Amino acid sequence: MTPQLTDKYMVTIAERLTSAYARIAEAAHKAQRNSNDITLLAVSKTKPATDIMAAYEQGQRQFGESYVQEAVDKIAQLDTFSDIVWHFIGPIQSNKSALVAANFAWVQSVDRLKIAKRLNSQRPETMPPLNVLIQVNISEEEAKSGCHPNEITELAQYIDQCAHLQLRGLMAIPAKSDDANTQIQYFEQLQTCFDKLQTQYPHIDTLSMGMSNDVEAAIAAGSTMVRIGTDIFGTRT
Ligand SMILES: *Cc1c(COP(=O)(O)O)cnc(C)c1O
Repeated sequence: MTPQLTDKYMVTIAERLTSAYARIAEAAHKAQRNSNDITLLAVSKTKPATDIMAAYEQGQRQFGESYVQEAVDKIAQLDTFSDIVWHFIGPIQSNKSALVAANFAWVQSVDRLKIAKRLNSQRPETMPPLNVLIQVNISEEEAKSGCHPNEITELAQYIDQCAHLQLRGLMAIPAKSDDANTQIQYFEQLQTCFDKLQTQYPHIDTLSMGMSNDVEAAIAAGSTMVRIGTDIFGTRT
């Protein structure tokens, strides 16, 4: 059954979504870029399907989720909203890869060959190729997911020859920093990796970087997709 919306949800999420788009437009303007070149991915992890519906009512179509089972439940609840584009952005365990392959249009967190291989073989034949971003551990944190920058080439080569995967670009979640210069340095490093990859694969078009607290730095460094959760849906518990 489709969940019902309340007015309270609508107003808050609608206003926040509008501010998020305004923030992107301002950051793009400052960076002398066209804001149409930057996609807003609304990150709805931990939030109910009604929140997603509220954003949908405002025209939002791209949504990001991080937890497989939670996401699959919401995707099922919202299956009448057939033009939602679902992105998986969380860590992928091998035993969950089939659910990711069958339920999402994009996966932004591919960081090893084994997962790429599984996603390719598990993508249903009836669906278009799964759009893939390689996640890069740009600040080289020990505990973070993402491949080392010098592993990008090998992974890209593999993904590029997979019939059921479509290589689209790179994603990163740099270490948290309140210093804008540090943030920009990480983002510029990722931009450099992206440019290098694009010389080999000219069709790649997506550099996914920037979250609620670093949208400006990411856009200044060339991001084409910002992933915003908190600023649209509120803090997560
Ligand atoms: C949760 C999450 C986001 C959104 O973060 P906010 O700080 O809430 O905007 C973006 N990207 C990834 C990969 C996430 O897991």
